[in-house]
Amino acid sequence: MDFDSQEIKQCIKALKTIDFELAYLAALTCEGLKPLSRWEKPLDHNELKLLQQLGLLTEQITRTVKTGKQVTEAIFSVSAGYIQLYEKRFGDKPIDKSAATVRFEGFLFGFPPCCVDEYIQHPYAKNNLEPEVQKILFHWACKDCKITPILLPGYLRIHEYVEEC
Ligand SMILES: [Zn+2]
Repeated sequence: MDFDSQEIKQCIKALKTIDFELAYLAALTCEGLKPLSRWEKPLDHNELKLLQQLGLLTEQITRTVKTGKQVTEAIFSVSAGYIQLYEKRFGDKPIDKSAATVRFEGFLFGFPPCCVDEYIQHPYAKNNLEPEVQKILFHWACKDCKITPILLPGYLRIHEYVEEC
């Protein structure tokens, strides 16, 4: 992603008017820090177009909740392969929170496997991150994580960029 491009800044700015987190997720995904991201609500044509202008592939996925009610999720990625993996595994399927699902989601969303395993065993166990730092991540870091500190500079840089757009 060309951080100096005015066109990209305009896109990020427009996404921020929908939701800061959507803009931040889009930028992280463009940069490849997350292979795929999920927005747990449908997006309209214009919103999807903004993501596509950033170079992202988008898809809307229908899932069901326990009551049988249908919900729509939007997913986006630079890779058609990851979109297909998500669609194949979760398209038209009920939403579940099993360990196998959390593991596969972690793989797609770019979460360190150590953090995913720790989260399955002990959700939100105390870690060594400052709360302000933990807040800009989408995974809960495991204690003494060896991968999160390597990812952090990228997350911080993109968070700052999106804030400034
Ligand atoms: Zn970890």
